[in-house]
Amino acid sequence: MKIISGIKYNIYIGNDAVHELNSFLSAGKYSSLFILVDENTKRHCLKKLLISNYQVSIIQIKSGEKNKNIRTCEKIWNELSKQNADRKSLLINLGGGVITDIGGFAASVYKRGIDFIHIPTTLLSQADASVGGKTGIDFNEYKNQVGTFAFPKAVFILPSFLKTLDKRQLLSGFAEVIKHALIADETYWKKISTTSLLLWEKGARDEVWEEIISRSIQIKNEIVSKDPYENGLRKTLNFGHTIGHAIESASLKKDKKPLLHGEAITIGIICEAYLSRKYCGMPSKEMNEISSFILSVLDPKPVKYPIKTLIAMMKQDKKNRDSEINFTLLSSIGKAEINNSCTEDLIEESVKYFNDLLNTNK
Ligand code: NAD
Repeated sequence: MKIISGIKYNIYIGNDAVHELNSFLSAGKYSSLFILVDENTKRHCLKKLLISNYQVSIIQIKSGEKNKNIRTCEKIWNELSKQNADRKSLLINLGGGVITDIGGFAASVYKRGIDFIHIPTTLLSQADASVGGKTGIDFNEYKNQVGTFAFPKAVFILPSFLKTLDKRQLLSGFAEVIKHALIADETYWKKISTTSLLLWEKGARDEVWEEIISRSIQIKNEIVSKDPYENGLRKTLNFGHTIGHAIESASLKKDKKPLLHGEAITIGIICEAYLSRKYCGMPSKEMNEISSFILSVLDPKPVKYPIKTLIAMMKQDKKNRDSEINFTLLSSIGKAEINNSCTEDLIEESVKYFNDLLNTNK
C-alpha cells in the first residue's frame, strides 16, 4: 500500500487500504456513519468494504452526471436530517466522481460542514476526482457551477473496485491520467502511451492500476498542495477542460446518450493540443503524437454542436477573467502554461482540426 499526504489528510492506495479504513472508523470519533452510494456502487462495491461491524446508514442516489444537481443534494440533506445526523456525523462517499463531488459538497455545507471521506470506485475518481478538495454540482446546464473547496478527512483507494467497471468507463477515466502526464511528466507520458493497450484487457492486474493511480495522484496532489484554491499553478489541471467541459455540457443537454466526462475531455485535449501548437509553440510532432495516441486508444465521435453554443458555454468557465476565455496550454509535453486567451476563430479552428482528424482516420 502507498500513502500520499494531502492537505491535512492521507490518501491510501492499495487493496489493503481497507484495513486503514477500518482503523479510521474504529477510532470512534463519530456519532453516526452514513454511506453515500448509487445503485451500481451499492451492488458492486458496498459488500467489499467489510464494515459490517459498524452501524452505518445507507443513502442511495441515482447514478450519472444528470443527477449531479441540487435536487439530489436535497435528497442527501433530507436523509441526513431524517436520520438525525449531527455535526459529529461522517459521510462516506463510495462511488465515482459524481458521488465524490456531490457527497463532498453536500457534507461541506450540511450544518455548516460535517466530516467526509472518499472511497472512489471508478478509474476517474481514483486517479483524479477524489483528491484535491474540489466539490460541486452542475447548475443551469453548466458544469460544476456551485461548489466548495473542502478536503476529505481521508481517501481510501482500492484498485480491485475497477474489476466491475466496463471498458468505456475505464477509458473515460484514462483521460485524466493522460492529462496528468501531459501537463507534468514526459516520462510518465512515454510510459502510459506505450503500455496502455495492455490495460484494457480483461483482468489487468491491480498492481498495474495501483502504480498508475499513484503516479497520477502524486502529480495532482503536488500541484494542489502548492495552490489549493487555484490562484495560479492549479489551473494547469484544467488542460483539456475548457473545450472539454463545453462539449460535455452540450452533450448532456442535447444527446440521448451523453458523452462521459473523460470522453469529452479527450476531445478537449486534442483541440487544446492544437491551440498549444498555435499559441505556445508546442512542436507539431508532439501535437501529432498526442492526437494519434488518443485516437488509437479511444474512439471519439465528431463534434457536431454549433461552435456558438460551445463558445457560450466556455464563457461560463470559472477560470475566465474580463470576459476572455482562459486556457491552460502546453509549450511541450510535460510543460503546462496557464492563462492563455485564444480567439474564437482559433477555437473554432481547433474543433475543425479534431473533426478533420477523425475523417482522415476513417
Ligand atoms: P460516475 O461517478 O458517473 O461513475 C460512472 C458510472 O460507473 C456510474 O454509473 C457509476 O454508478 C458506475 N460505477 C462506479 N463505480 C463502479 C464500479 N466499481 N463498478 C461498476 N460500476 C461502477 O463518473 P466518473 O467518471 O467517476 O466521474 C465523473 C465526474 O467526476 C464528473 O462529474 C466530473 O466533473 C467529476 N470530476 C471531478 C473532479 C474533481 O477534482 N472534483 C475531477 C475530475 C472529474
